Amino acid sequence: MTGPGHPPSALAPIPGESLTGYVLRFNATSMAPPLALPPRYADTDLPPGLTDAVHRSTGLDSRHIGRMTMTGWPLALRGRGIQHRHGWVLHRRDVWLCPTCTPLTGFRALRWRLALAPVCLRCHTLLTHERTFTPTRSATIEELARLRRLDELTTRALQGSKTSRSHLSVLRRICTASDAHEPDGDVLPRPALGGAPTPAGNQWGTHPPGEPSTVLKQLATLDPALLNESRARAHWQQLQHEVSLPSSSAFAPAPFQPESPPTSPATPAMARARRRALLRQLTDLCAATGLRPQHIPTVAAPWRAPRWSRIRVLEDQAFEALALHTLLLEALGEDATGSAVFVAHGIPAVVNQHDLLTRVRTRGNLSPGECDRLLARAQALVDDGLVDYAYRRGTLLAVPSLPRIPAIHLPRHPFWPARTLVPAWAWVAYARGLPDSGPVPDVSLEAVDRFHADLDPEARLRLLEAFDTHVRGEDWAAVASAAGSSSPTIASAHQRSA
Ligand SMILES: [Zn+2]
Repeated sequence: MTGPGHPPSALAPIPGESLTGYVLRFNATSMAPPLALPPRYADTDLPPGLTDAVHRSTGLDSRHIGRMTMTGWPLALRGRGIQHRHGWVLHRRDVWLCPTCTPLTGFRALRWRLALAPVCLRCHTLLTHERTFTPTRSATIEELARLRRLDELTTRALQGSKTSRSHLSVLRRICTASDAHEPDGDVLPRPALGGAPTPAGNQWGTHPPGEPSTVLKQLATLDPALLNESRARAHWQQLQHEVSLPSSSAFAPAPFQPESPPTSPATPAMARARRRALLRQLTDLCAATGLRPQHIPTVAAPWRAPRWSRIRVLEDQAFEALALHTLLLEALGEDATGSAVFVAHGIPAVVNQHDLLTRVRTRGNLSPGECDRLLARAQALVDDGLVDYAYRRGTLLAVPSLPRIPAIHLPRHPFWPARTLVPAWAWVAYARGLPDSGPVPDVSLEAVDRFHADLDPEARLRLLEAFDTHVRGEDWAAVASAAGSSSPTIASAHQRSA
Protein backbone atom coordinates (compact mmCIF):
# COMPACT_ATOMS: atom_id res chain seq x y z
CA MET A 1 0.00 0.00 0.00
CA THR A 2 3.02 2.27 0.28
CA GLY A 3 2.57 3.88 -3.12
CA PRO A 4 4.45 6.60 -4.92
CA GLY A 5 3.92 9.98 -3.34
CA HIS A 6 3.83 8.55 0.19
CA PRO A 7 6.86 8.58 2.43
CA PRO A 8 8.33 5.13 3.12
CA SER A 9 7.66 3.92 6.64
CA ALA A 10 9.63 6.30 8.78
CA LEU A 11 9.59 4.27 11.97
CA ALA A 12 9.17 0.50 12.17
CA PRO A 13 6.59 -0.77 14.67
CA ILE A 14 7.85 -3.03 17.48
CA PRO A 15 6.19 -6.46 17.24
CA GLY A 16 3.08 -6.53 19.44
CA GLU A 17 2.98 -2.75 19.80
CA SER A 18 -0.30 -0.83 20.13
CA LEU A 19 -1.19 2.00 17.76
CA THR A 20 -1.14 4.40 20.71
CA GLY A 21 2.38 3.29 21.60
CA TYR A 22 3.50 3.60 17.99
CA VAL A 23 2.03 7.08 17.53
CA LEU A 24 3.61 8.30 20.79
CA ARG A 25 7.01 6.96 19.68
CA PHE A 26 6.53 8.50 16.24
CA ASN A 27 5.67 11.88 17.72
CA ALA A 28 8.74 11.69 19.97
CA THR A 29 11.01 11.46 16.92
CA SER A 30 9.83 14.92 15.73
CA MET A 31 10.26 13.67 12.13
CA ALA A 32 6.91 15.11 11.09
CA PRO A 33 4.07 17.19 12.54
CA PRO A 34 2.73 15.24 15.53
CA LEU A 35 -0.17 12.84 14.95
CA ALA A 36 -3.29 13.26 17.06
CA LEU A 37 -5.25 10.33 18.43
CA PRO A 38 -8.95 10.60 19.44
CA PRO A 39 -9.42 11.44 23.15
CA ARG A 40 -9.10 8.35 25.37
CA TYR A 41 -8.29 6.20 22.36
CA ALA A 42 -8.04 2.59 23.57
CA ASP A 43 -6.74 0.76 20.47
CA THR A 44 -9.99 -1.23 20.31
CA ASP A 45 -11.11 0.10 16.92
CA LEU A 46 -10.00 2.30 14.03
CA PRO A 47 -12.18 5.41 13.73
CA PRO A 48 -12.73 6.67 10.17
CA GLY A 49 -9.89 8.85 9.03
CA LEU A 50 -7.36 7.59 11.57
CA THR A 51 -5.84 5.00 9.22
CA ASP A 52 -5.43 7.66 6.51
CA ALA A 53 -3.88 10.15 8.90
CA VAL A 54 -1.39 7.61 10.26
CA HIS A 55 -0.61 6.35 6.75
CA ARG A 56 0.01 9.87 5.40
CA SER A 57 2.38 10.78 8.21
CA THR A 58 4.24 7.53 8.74
CA GLY A 59 3.95 5.71 5.41
CA LEU A 60 2.78 2.55 7.20
CA ASP A 61 0.27 0.55 5.16
CA SER A 62 -3.28 0.08 6.40
CA ARG A 63 -2.81 -3.61 7.22
CA HIS A 64 0.07 -2.78 9.54
CA ILE A 65 -1.93 -0.02 11.15
CA GLY A 66 -4.98 -2.27 11.65
CA ARG A 67 -2.81 -4.96 13.24
CA MET A 68 -1.81 -2.52 15.99
CA THR A 69 -5.49 -2.31 17.05
CA MET A 70 -8.14 -4.82 18.06
CA THR A 71 -10.17 -4.28 14.90
CA GLY A 72 -11.59 -7.61 13.83
CA TRP A 73 -10.72 -9.33 17.10
CA PRO A 74 -13.27 -11.82 18.49
CA LEU A 75 -15.87 -10.19 20.73
CA ALA A 76 -15.00 -12.70 23.44
CA LEU A 77 -11.72 -10.78 23.76
CA ARG A 78 -12.49 -7.17 22.96
CA GLY A 79 -16.08 -7.00 24.31
CA ARG A 80 -19.11 -5.66 22.52
CA GLY A 81 -20.92 -2.37 21.93
CA ILE A 82 -19.39 1.09 21.90
CA GLN A 83 -17.94 0.56 25.36
CA HIS A 84 -16.52 -2.88 24.52
CA ARG A 85 -18.06 -4.32 27.66
CA HIS A 86 -17.97 -7.96 28.75
CA GLY A 87 -14.72 -8.94 27.08
CA TRP A 88 -11.19 -9.11 28.45
CA VAL A 89 -10.49 -5.53 27.39
CA LEU A 90 -9.82 -2.99 30.14
CA HIS A 91 -11.86 0.16 30.60
CA ARG A 92 -10.50 2.84 28.30
CA ARG A 93 -9.34 4.97 31.24
CA ASP A 94 -7.13 2.09 32.49
CA VAL A 95 -3.74 2.14 30.77
CA TRP A 96 -1.06 -0.33 31.85
CA LEU A 97 2.65 0.19 31.25
CA CYS A 98 5.84 -1.73 31.94
CA PRO A 99 7.86 0.18 34.55
CA THR A 100 11.06 -1.16 32.93
CA CYS A 101 10.46 -1.26 29.15
CA THR A 102 8.12 1.68 28.55
CA PRO A 103 10.40 4.46 29.89
CA LEU A 104 13.40 2.99 28.02
CA THR A 105 11.90 2.20 24.63
CA GLY A 106 8.41 3.70 24.63
CA PHE A 107 7.00 0.21 24.08
CA ARG A 108 3.30 -0.22 24.87
CA ALA A 109 1.96 -3.67 23.96
CA LEU A 110 -1.50 -3.96 22.44
CA ARG A 111 -2.20 -6.93 24.71
CA TRP A 112 -1.59 -4.77 27.79
CA ARG A 113 -5.03 -3.39 26.97
CA LEU A 114 -6.40 -6.78 28.10
CA ALA A 115 -6.75 -8.20 31.59
CA LEU A 116 -5.00 -11.28 30.16
CA ALA A 117 -1.60 -9.57 30.38
CA PRO A 118 -0.83 -7.92 33.74
CA VAL A 119 2.90 -8.78 33.34
CA CYS A 120 5.39 -7.71 30.64
CA LEU A 121 6.41 -10.95 28.92
CA ARG A 122 9.64 -9.34 27.66
CA CYS A 123 11.17 -8.48 31.05
CA HIS A 124 8.77 -10.38 33.37
CA THR A 125 7.91 -7.26 35.39
CA LEU A 126 4.43 -6.73 36.82
CA LEU A 127 2.83 -3.85 34.90
CA THR A 128 1.83 -0.59 36.57
CA HIS A 129 -1.08 1.77 36.00
CA GLU A 130 -0.19 4.84 33.93
CA ARG A 131 -1.87 7.08 36.51
CA THR A 132 0.24 5.91 39.47
CA PHE A 133 3.34 4.61 37.65
CA THR A 134 5.13 3.04 40.62
CA PRO A 135 7.95 0.47 40.57
CA THR A 136 6.68 -3.13 40.81
CA ARG A 137 8.16 -6.59 41.34
CA SER A 138 9.09 -9.43 39.02
CA ALA A 139 6.53 -12.15 38.36
CA THR A 140 7.07 -15.57 39.98
CA ILE A 141 7.66 -18.70 37.89
CA GLU A 142 4.08 -19.87 38.54
CA GLU A 143 2.65 -16.49 37.55
CA LEU A 144 4.71 -16.46 34.35
CA ALA A 145 3.58 -19.97 33.43
CA ARG A 146 -0.05 -18.95 33.91
CA LEU A 147 0.35 -15.78 31.85
CA ARG A 148 2.18 -17.58 29.04
CA ARG A 149 -0.73 -20.03 28.88
CA LEU A 150 -3.20 -17.13 28.64
CA ASP A 151 -1.00 -15.47 26.01
CA GLU A 152 -0.95 -18.70 24.00
CA LEU A 153 -4.76 -18.98 24.21
CA THR A 154 -5.05 -15.35 23.06
CA THR A 155 -2.77 -15.99 20.08
CA ARG A 156 -4.74 -19.07 19.05
CA ALA A 157 -8.05 -17.25 19.47
CA LEU A 158 -6.72 -14.49 17.20
CA GLN A 159 -5.65 -17.11 14.66
CA GLY A 160 -9.26 -18.30 14.52
CA SER A 161 -9.32 -21.17 17.01
CA LYS A 162 -12.92 -21.51 18.18
CA THR A 163 -11.89 -23.70 21.12
CA SER A 164 -9.43 -21.15 22.48
CA ARG A 165 -11.97 -18.38 21.99
CA SER A 166 -14.71 -20.12 23.93
CA HIS A 167 -12.17 -21.31 26.54
CA LEU A 168 -11.21 -17.65 27.15
CA SER A 169 -14.87 -16.73 27.28
CA VAL A 170 -15.52 -19.29 30.06
CA LEU A 171 -12.38 -18.17 31.91
CA ARG A 172 -13.66 -14.59 31.93
CA ARG A 173 -16.97 -15.73 33.39
CA ILE A 174 -15.11 -17.61 36.12
CA CYS A 175 -13.15 -14.47 37.01
CA THR A 176 -16.38 -12.46 37.09
CA ALA A 177 -18.13 -14.94 39.35
CA SER A 178 -15.27 -15.95 41.60
CA ASP A 179 -14.49 -12.52 43.03
CA ALA A 180 -17.66 -12.76 45.10
CA HIS A 181 -16.39 -16.10 46.33
CA GLU A 182 -12.84 -15.25 47.17
CA PRO A 183 -12.17 -17.64 50.09
CA ASP A 184 -10.43 -15.04 52.24
CA GLY A 185 -12.51 -11.97 51.82
CA ASP A 186 -9.59 -9.66 52.62
CA VAL A 187 -7.93 -10.27 49.24
CA LEU A 188 -10.69 -8.75 47.18
CA PRO A 189 -13.17 -7.17 49.56
CA ARG A 190 -16.57 -6.28 48.23
CA PRO A 191 -16.97 -2.51 48.18
CA ALA A 192 -18.90 -0.91 51.01
CA LEU A 193 -22.57 -0.93 50.16
CA GLY A 194 -24.32 2.34 49.65
CA GLY A 195 -22.79 5.77 49.31
CA ALA A 196 -19.44 4.55 47.96
CA PRO A 197 -18.53 7.24 45.43
CA THR A 198 -16.07 4.98 43.56
CA PRO A 199 -18.07 1.82 43.11
CA ALA A 200 -16.52 -1.54 42.58
CA GLY A 201 -12.85 -0.60 42.34
CA ASN A 202 -11.79 -4.22 42.69
CA GLN A 203 -14.82 -5.85 41.15
CA TRP A 204 -14.91 -7.58 37.81
CA GLY A 205 -18.01 -5.91 36.48
CA THR A 206 -18.57 -5.08 32.83
CA HIS A 207 -14.84 -4.40 32.64
CA PRO A 208 -12.03 -6.12 34.51
CA PRO A 209 -10.52 -4.27 37.51
CA GLY A 210 -8.06 -1.56 36.50
CA GLU A 211 -5.06 -2.59 38.61
CA PRO A 212 -2.56 -5.14 37.21
CA SER A 213 -1.85 -6.54 40.71
CA THR A 214 -5.57 -7.11 41.37
CA VAL A 215 -6.00 -8.89 38.05
CA LEU A 216 -2.89 -11.01 38.70
CA LYS A 217 -4.46 -12.24 41.96
CA GLN A 218 -7.72 -13.05 40.24
CA LEU A 219 -6.05 -14.94 37.40
CA ALA A 220 -4.42 -17.16 40.06
CA THR A 221 -7.86 -18.61 40.85
CA LEU A 222 -8.08 -19.95 37.27
CA ASP A 223 -5.38 -22.61 37.60
CA PRO A 224 -7.40 -25.82 37.21
CA ALA A 225 -9.55 -24.17 34.53
CA LEU A 226 -6.56 -23.06 32.41
CA LEU A 227 -5.80 -26.62 31.35
CA ASN A 228 -8.59 -27.02 28.82
CA GLU A 229 -12.11 -25.91 28.04
CA SER A 230 -13.91 -28.84 29.66
CA ARG A 231 -12.05 -28.26 32.97
CA ALA A 232 -13.03 -24.61 32.68
CA ARG A 233 -16.70 -25.43 32.07
CA ALA A 234 -16.77 -27.82 35.04
CA HIS A 235 -15.22 -25.12 37.26
CA TRP A 236 -17.73 -22.55 35.98
CA GLN A 237 -20.71 -24.82 36.63
CA GLN A 238 -19.48 -25.51 40.15
CA LEU A 239 -19.20 -21.76 40.79
CA GLN A 240 -22.67 -21.10 39.37
CA HIS A 241 -24.07 -23.73 41.67
CA GLU A 242 -22.39 -22.11 44.68
CA VAL A 243 -23.60 -18.67 43.65
CA SER A 244 -27.17 -19.94 43.29
CA LEU A 245 -27.30 -21.55 46.71
CA PRO A 246 -27.43 -18.65 49.15
CA SER A 247 -29.66 -16.36 47.13
CA SER A 248 -32.12 -19.01 45.93
CA SER A 249 -32.57 -20.49 49.35
CA ALA A 250 -33.16 -17.05 50.77
CA PHE A 251 -35.46 -15.71 48.09
CA ALA A 252 -37.38 -18.81 47.22
CA PRO A 253 -39.93 -19.98 49.69
CA ALA A 254 -42.48 -22.03 47.77
CA PRO A 255 -45.24 -19.94 46.21
CA PHE A 256 -48.82 -20.67 47.25
CA GLN A 257 -47.69 -21.82 50.70
CA PRO A 258 -48.87 -20.02 53.78
CA GLU A 259 -46.54 -17.22 54.79
CA SER A 260 -43.53 -18.47 56.66
CA PRO A 261 -43.00 -16.81 60.02
CA PRO A 262 -40.33 -14.11 60.25
CA THR A 263 -36.95 -15.76 60.63
CA SER A 264 -35.83 -13.72 63.64
CA PRO A 265 -37.83 -12.94 66.72
CA ALA A 266 -37.99 -9.18 66.16
CA THR A 267 -40.30 -6.75 67.85
CA PRO A 268 -42.44 -4.63 65.47
CA ALA A 269 -40.31 -1.60 66.39
CA MET A 270 -37.09 -3.42 65.44
CA ALA A 271 -38.62 -4.58 62.17
CA ARG A 272 -39.67 -1.01 61.30
CA ALA A 273 -36.21 0.31 62.16
CA ARG A 274 -34.58 -2.34 59.95
CA ARG A 275 -36.82 -1.46 57.03
CA ARG A 276 -36.08 2.24 57.49
CA ALA A 277 -32.34 1.50 57.52
CA LEU A 278 -32.64 -0.53 54.31
CA LEU A 279 -34.58 2.26 52.59
CA ARG A 280 -32.01 4.83 53.71
CA GLN A 281 -29.16 2.72 52.28
CA LEU A 282 -31.04 2.31 49.01
CA THR A 283 -31.70 6.06 48.86
CA ASP A 284 -27.97 6.71 49.36
CA LEU A 285 -27.04 4.16 46.71
CA CYS A 286 -29.46 5.75 44.20
CA ALA A 287 -28.11 9.22 44.94
CA ALA A 288 -24.48 8.13 44.61
CA THR A 289 -24.80 6.01 41.48
CA GLY A 290 -27.92 7.03 39.54
CA LEU A 291 -29.56 3.63 40.14
CA ARG A 292 -33.29 3.70 39.25
CA PRO A 293 -36.06 1.07 39.06
CA GLN A 294 -35.73 0.87 35.26
CA HIS A 295 -32.27 -0.67 35.76
CA ILE A 296 -33.79 -3.79 37.35
CA PRO A 297 -33.93 -6.85 35.05
CA THR A 298 -36.96 -9.08 35.61
CA VAL A 299 -34.72 -12.13 35.48
CA ALA A 300 -31.27 -11.61 36.99
CA ALA A 301 -29.57 -14.85 35.88
CA PRO A 302 -31.58 -16.44 33.05
CA TRP A 303 -29.45 -19.57 32.79
CA ARG A 304 -28.66 -20.23 36.42
CA ALA A 305 -28.59 -23.99 36.97
CA PRO A 306 -32.03 -25.01 38.25
CA ARG A 307 -32.38 -26.86 41.52
CA TRP A 308 -36.05 -27.54 40.90
CA SER A 309 -38.45 -26.52 38.13
CA ARG A 310 -36.77 -24.33 35.51
CA ILE A 311 -39.73 -21.97 35.18
CA ARG A 312 -40.06 -21.71 38.99
CA VAL A 313 -36.45 -20.49 39.20
CA LEU A 314 -37.20 -17.74 36.68
CA GLU A 315 -40.46 -16.79 38.39
CA ASP A 316 -38.73 -16.57 41.75
CA GLN A 317 -36.15 -14.25 40.25
CA ALA A 318 -38.99 -12.16 38.80
CA PHE A 319 -40.70 -11.81 42.18
CA GLU A 320 -37.39 -10.81 43.77
CA ALA A 321 -37.11 -8.15 41.05
CA LEU A 322 -40.61 -6.88 41.89
CA ALA A 323 -39.66 -6.72 45.59
CA LEU A 324 -36.52 -4.70 44.84
CA HIS A 325 -38.44 -2.48 42.39
CA THR A 326 -41.04 -1.74 45.09
CA LEU A 327 -38.36 -0.87 47.65
CA LEU A 328 -36.48 1.38 45.21
CA LEU A 329 -39.67 3.32 44.44
CA GLU A 330 -40.23 3.75 48.16
CA ALA A 331 -36.60 4.80 48.69
CA LEU A 332 -37.00 7.42 45.96
CA GLY A 333 -40.22 8.72 47.55
CA GLU A 334 -42.45 7.48 44.73
CA ASP A 335 -45.75 5.59 44.96
CA ALA A 336 -45.15 1.85 45.23
CA THR A 337 -48.61 0.71 46.26
CA GLY A 338 -50.44 0.24 42.94
CA SER A 339 -49.91 -2.29 40.18
CA ALA A 340 -47.34 -0.19 38.28
CA VAL A 341 -44.51 -2.42 39.46
CA PHE A 342 -46.20 -5.50 38.00
CA VAL A 343 -47.05 -3.68 34.78
CA ALA A 344 -43.42 -2.58 34.38
CA HIS A 345 -42.32 -6.21 34.21
CA GLY A 346 -45.36 -7.53 32.32
CA ILE A 347 -46.45 -9.74 35.21
CA PRO A 348 -50.15 -10.14 36.19
CA ALA A 349 -50.76 -8.41 39.53
CA VAL A 350 -52.02 -11.35 41.53
CA VAL A 351 -51.50 -10.77 45.24
CA ASN A 352 -49.84 -13.17 47.69
CA GLN A 353 -47.92 -15.03 45.02
CA HIS A 354 -44.59 -14.79 46.74
CA ASP A 355 -43.78 -14.53 50.42
CA LEU A 356 -40.96 -11.97 50.21
CA LEU A 357 -42.82 -9.76 47.73
CA THR A 358 -45.95 -9.86 49.88
CA ARG A 359 -44.01 -8.81 52.99
CA VAL A 360 -42.30 -6.00 51.06
CA ARG A 361 -45.63 -4.71 49.74
CA THR A 362 -47.48 -5.00 53.05
CA ARG A 363 -44.56 -3.54 55.04
CA GLY A 364 -44.14 -6.84 56.85
CA ASN A 365 -41.01 -7.99 58.60
CA LEU A 366 -37.81 -8.46 56.59
CA SER A 367 -35.01 -10.50 58.15
CA PRO A 368 -31.49 -9.00 58.37
CA GLY A 369 -30.34 -11.58 55.79
CA GLU A 370 -33.08 -10.54 53.36
CA CYS A 371 -32.20 -6.85 53.78
CA ASP A 372 -28.52 -7.63 53.10
CA ARG A 373 -29.32 -9.64 50.01
CA LEU A 374 -31.69 -7.05 48.54
CA LEU A 375 -29.04 -4.39 49.07
CA ALA A 376 -26.38 -6.64 47.53
CA ARG A 377 -28.61 -7.20 44.53
CA ALA A 378 -29.01 -3.45 44.05
CA GLN A 379 -25.24 -3.01 44.37
CA ALA A 380 -24.68 -5.78 41.79
CA LEU A 381 -26.74 -3.77 39.25
CA VAL A 382 -24.36 -0.86 39.80
CA ASP A 383 -21.26 -3.08 39.59
CA ASP A 384 -22.45 -4.55 36.29
CA GLY A 385 -22.77 -1.06 34.79
CA LEU A 386 -26.33 0.30 34.93
CA VAL A 387 -28.40 -0.97 32.01
CA ASP A 388 -31.87 0.40 31.24
CA TYR A 389 -33.68 -2.94 31.07
CA ALA A 390 -37.10 -1.24 31.05
CA TYR A 391 -36.11 0.45 27.79
CA ARG A 392 -34.91 -2.84 26.33
CA ARG A 393 -38.17 -4.58 27.30
CA GLY A 394 -40.27 -1.72 25.97
CA THR A 395 -38.38 -1.54 22.68
CA LEU A 396 -38.48 -5.29 22.01
CA LEU A 397 -42.23 -5.30 22.68
CA ALA A 398 -43.01 -2.15 20.72
CA VAL A 399 -40.70 -2.21 17.72
CA PRO A 400 -42.14 -4.74 15.32
CA SER A 401 -38.99 -5.96 13.62
CA LEU A 402 -35.91 -8.06 14.12
CA PRO A 403 -32.51 -6.40 14.05
CA ARG A 404 -30.30 -6.98 11.08
CA ILE A 405 -28.87 -10.37 12.05
CA PRO A 406 -25.14 -10.67 11.36
CA ALA A 407 -24.03 -13.47 9.04
CA ILE A 408 -23.59 -16.16 11.66
CA HIS A 409 -24.61 -19.76 12.03
CA LEU A 410 -27.80 -20.06 14.11
CA PRO A 411 -28.91 -23.37 15.66
CA ARG A 412 -31.86 -25.06 13.95
CA HIS A 413 -35.00 -26.08 15.80
CA PRO A 414 -37.30 -28.83 14.44
CA PHE A 415 -40.39 -26.63 14.79
CA TRP A 416 -39.60 -22.95 15.25
CA PRO A 417 -37.84 -20.91 12.54
CA ALA A 418 -34.95 -18.66 13.59
CA ARG A 419 -37.00 -15.47 12.97
CA THR A 420 -39.34 -16.61 15.76
CA LEU A 421 -36.74 -18.12 18.08
CA VAL A 422 -34.31 -15.20 17.96
CA PRO A 423 -36.73 -12.60 19.44
CA ALA A 424 -37.91 -15.16 22.02
CA TRP A 425 -34.29 -15.80 23.03
CA ALA A 426 -33.39 -12.08 22.98
CA TRP A 427 -36.32 -11.33 25.31
CA VAL A 428 -34.72 -13.57 27.94
CA ALA A 429 -31.00 -13.12 27.16
CA TYR A 430 -30.92 -9.43 26.25
CA ALA A 431 -34.00 -7.78 27.79
CA ARG A 432 -33.92 -10.23 30.76
CA GLY A 433 -37.70 -10.58 30.70
CA LEU A 434 -39.86 -13.44 31.89
CA PRO A 435 -40.56 -15.66 28.82
CA ASP A 436 -44.38 -15.51 29.18
CA SER A 437 -44.44 -11.71 29.05
CA GLY A 438 -42.25 -11.38 25.94
CA PRO A 439 -42.99 -10.64 22.28
CA VAL A 440 -43.27 -14.34 21.35
CA PRO A 441 -44.93 -16.02 24.35
CA ASP A 442 -45.88 -19.12 22.34
CA VAL A 443 -42.30 -20.34 22.11
CA SER A 444 -41.65 -22.71 25.02
CA LEU A 445 -38.90 -22.03 27.53
CA GLU A 446 -37.48 -25.41 26.56
CA ALA A 447 -37.04 -24.27 22.93
CA VAL A 448 -35.37 -21.04 24.09
CA ASP A 449 -33.05 -23.00 26.40
CA ARG A 450 -32.15 -25.37 23.59
CA PHE A 451 -31.41 -22.48 21.21
CA HIS A 452 -29.21 -20.87 23.88
CA ALA A 453 -27.32 -24.09 24.61
CA ASP A 454 -26.64 -24.73 20.91
CA LEU A 455 -25.57 -21.15 20.17
CA ASP A 456 -21.85 -20.64 19.62
CA PRO A 457 -20.51 -18.15 22.23
CA GLU A 458 -19.17 -15.78 19.58
CA ALA A 459 -22.50 -15.91 17.68
CA ARG A 460 -24.24 -15.15 20.99
CA LEU A 461 -22.13 -12.01 21.45
CA ARG A 462 -22.79 -10.94 17.86
CA LEU A 463 -26.54 -11.38 18.34
CA LEU A 464 -26.44 -9.38 21.58
CA GLU A 465 -24.50 -6.66 19.79
CA ALA A 466 -27.09 -6.64 16.98
CA PHE A 467 -29.87 -6.16 19.54
CA ASP A 468 -27.87 -3.39 21.22
CA THR A 469 -27.61 -1.55 17.90
CA HIS A 470 -31.29 -2.26 17.25
CA VAL A 471 -32.50 -0.92 20.59
CA ARG A 472 -30.44 2.22 20.09
CA GLY A 473 -32.38 2.59 16.84
CA GLU A 474 -29.30 2.71 14.63
CA ASP A 475 -30.46 0.09 12.14
CA TRP A 476 -34.20 0.66 11.95
CA ALA A 477 -34.23 2.30 8.54
CA ALA A 478 -32.21 -0.59 7.11
CA VAL A 479 -34.40 -3.18 8.81
CA ALA A 480 -37.63 -1.56 7.67
CA SER A 481 -36.54 -1.67 4.06
CA ALA A 482 -35.10 -5.20 4.29
CA ALA A 483 -37.99 -6.87 6.13
CA GLY A 484 -41.54 -7.17 4.87
CA SER A 485 -44.31 -6.03 7.16
CA SER A 486 -46.12 -9.36 7.39
CA SER A 487 -43.78 -11.82 9.09
CA PRO A 488 -45.31 -13.78 12.01
CA THR A 489 -42.89 -12.16 14.45
CA ILE A 490 -44.01 -8.73 13.40
CA ALA A 491 -47.69 -9.60 13.70
CA SER A 492 -47.35 -11.05 17.17
CA ALA A 493 -45.24 -8.12 18.36
CA HIS A 494 -47.98 -5.77 17.15
CA GLN A 495 -50.58 -7.71 19.12
CA ARG A 496 -48.50 -7.56 22.29
CA SER A 497 -47.91 -3.86 22.07
CA ALA A 498 -51.49 -3.01 21.14
ZN1 LIG B 1 9.01 -4.96 30.24
